[in-house]
Amino acid sequence: SPATQPVVVIDAHDLPYLNPKLPIKKRVDDLLSRMTLAEKVGQMTQAERNALKTRSDISTYALGSLLSGGGSVPTPNTAASWAAMIDTFQRSAQATRLQIPLIYGVDAVHGHNNVVGATILPHNIGLGATRDPDLARRTGEVTATEVRATGIPWDFAPCLCVVRDDRWGRAYEGYGEDPALVDAMATVLTGMQGKADGSQLKNKDRVLASAKHYAGDGGTTYGSSTTGGYTIDQGITQVTREELERLHLAPFKKAVDLGVGTVMPSFSSVSIDGAPAVKMHGNDELINGVLKDRMGFKGFVISDWAAIDQLPGDYASDIRTSINAGLDMIMVPARYQDFTQGLTTEVSAGRVPLSRVDDAVRRILGEKFKLGLFEKPYSDPALLSSVGSAAHRAVGREAAAKSQVLLKNEGNLLPLAPTSKVYVAGSNADDLGNQMGGWSITWQGKSGATTTGTTVLAGIKEVVPSATFSVDASAPLTGHDVGVVVVGERPYAEGVGDVGNGHDQLLSDADKVAVDKVCSAMKCVVLTVSGRPQVVSDQLGKINALVASWLPGTEGAGVADVLFGKKPFSGRLPVSWPRTEAQQPLNVGDASYDPQYPYGWGLTTQAAARQKLTDARNTLLRKHDPYALAAAVAASIALQVKDWSGPQATIALAALQQSAKHLDRTKVDTFAEGDAVVSAARYITQTKIGQNLTEPTSKLTADAEHASLTGQLATAVAKLTAAYKTK
Ligand code: BGC
Repeated sequence: SPATQPVVVIDAHDLPYLNPKLPIKKRVDDLLSRMTLAEKVGQMTQAERNALKTRSDISTYALGSLLSGGGSVPTPNTAASWAAMIDTFQRSAQATRLQIPLIYGVDAVHGHNNVVGATILPHNIGLGATRDPDLARRTGEVTATEVRATGIPWDFAPCLCVVRDDRWGRAYEGYGEDPALVDAMATVLTGMQGKADGSQLKNKDRVLASAKHYAGDGGTTYGSSTTGGYTIDQGITQVTREELERLHLAPFKKAVDLGVGTVMPSFSSVSIDGAPAVKMHGNDELINGVLKDRMGFKGFVISDWAAIDQLPGDYASDIRTSINAGLDMIMVPARYQDFTQGLTTEVSAGRVPLSRVDDAVRRILGEKFKLGLFEKPYSDPALLSSVGSAAHRAVGREAAAKSQVLLKNEGNLLPLAPTSKVYVAGSNADDLGNQMGGWSITWQGKSGATTTGTTVLAGIKEVVPSATFSVDASAPLTGHDVGVVVVGERPYAEGVGDVGNGHDQLLSDADKVAVDKVCSAMKCVVLTVSGRPQVVSDQLGKINALVASWLPGTEGAGVADVLFGKKPFSGRLPVSWPRTEAQQPLNVGDASYDPQYPYGWGLTTQAAARQKLTDARNTLLRKHDPYALAAAVAASIALQVKDWSGPQATIALAALQQSAKHLDRTKVDTFAEGDAVVSAARYITQTKIGQNLTEPTSKLTADAEHASLTGQLATAVAKLTAAYKTK
């Protein structure tokens, strides 16, 4: 056990930096004053654990950090062996002269997704669909608790990418296409790290986060001539300065305000106002200038995987350019000998100032002190039982249910009666690996039962044990009431997505056949289990109900919860849903916006909309703000109208309009309340006009959704009201 292993080489009690009672700044000053250049350079070096030539290199090079890159898992891949592995590495760090603990990092981007038996949450695109910042916060807590339980203090998440083109293979890692939505969901950081001052980072349920990938990772140009062909991942973001600020920098400002401990630059480059593209890893203006100086980021900047190697020039120049641009730690991840030697040479020659190195090391040590690693470097076996616990899986199930977006519901086919005779088909109905997507157990993810959880089919069978399942719809179709066809993508990570399957956003041939067979024989529901919208325009006519399920993770039963009405549909599109792939990039606010379903679209029930408004009213009543109280009163009036599809619906709409006006004037944070008002107003509008909204109305839907995020509610609700009145 770790307790029997520490190598005490210094007198722990006399040295100020080891005294937890001293302020962190004093401890950092003291420790830095004792460090040699080699020890400082070591702190700035992060190696991949598989790349270590021998474990003693941790002490030989005084390495500051190790990571497990995607799929770099211990054998067996259990929570307990992760903890044992990290403790072993930590013991080597504790055998160094100054006993500076290692900071170990992993990609836990939707729960502790590398570990068999962990709770794997929906990918961020699904969380964006929930429009529920408090849920995002709780998912952050689940992830933090499970990661920390295995002795890991640092998570390379969340991705705050604003996804402007869904052909990007990382579209699912982002919360959506609207920066205001990404901003709102940045509450995940509070769940991960606790308070913005970092004072809770040492707690067992917190983890150091990394906002990535700074900046513009979701805005790269598809197939540009400079990047060639398909390359959208790691490509060039070509923007005006205004677009860069509004779309791609805003979420990072939010992250800095929430106290994010680390930021990871993007592999991609940025070209502003037509100027030559600059790689983010050498971008002095945006890292030193904007992130550190202007936004006031006090944590440390960690490079992406071997990303400095892509800078122009030789390795010495890569090191010089990146460190001088403000990178503090480099994920080398295999070249730790080259890197430590190279940086030492650059500093000795005066090409990288020692003051820059000192600044980087201060930042790194500051986070290590906040995490309490000097006091508690090893894992705590008592925490392991939280990994994949029932309580965490319940959050995963709730998130899966809330992320479902009901796109079409002809004749109110959904929810299904639990007594229905159900026929289930499609490639993703019973495949845990496919419903988790990439970054699940392995880097790329993998089809099949790679860990424990429930598939969508298993969830359906909890309700209807006798449901027929035939993946290709070859089993007899007659004698069923309704078909549920679960189509979608196979897992992928980075790059451009599931192109090997013969499609980008298109349905596979096998899925098309399953849809055709089932939907020709009976009423049918189609669910898309995918990391981005699937183009279904050719099939839409025969599909009665359509649901965007995203990548729900290990708790597929949450999908069945909404199918059978145990929970209401409440999700809304986090990205615009295209008619054809050629429409990409397709984003709300585009001049010729013509989606199949607009940003923010998502049908709901009156009960769900009323519930949201009730919650909003109750929150507003507790706020000490006259406008919030006025909004609460207006919401109460709307709630008193018993039936929002009945004759008094106009009164409810008028009251909602008043709420929106008041909310616009509050200084309090009103994202959830605004969302409730728009949901309610939209419910009334939709029900009155019918579900096949006309083009201008679907544009209004997207505008209203955007306005609810940016706080221009009054205008949005007024427009919806007008749409209703003209009918
Ligand atoms: C990805 C990062 C990730 C890193 C470490 C890179 O390929 O771009 O998002 O954190 O690998 O695994």
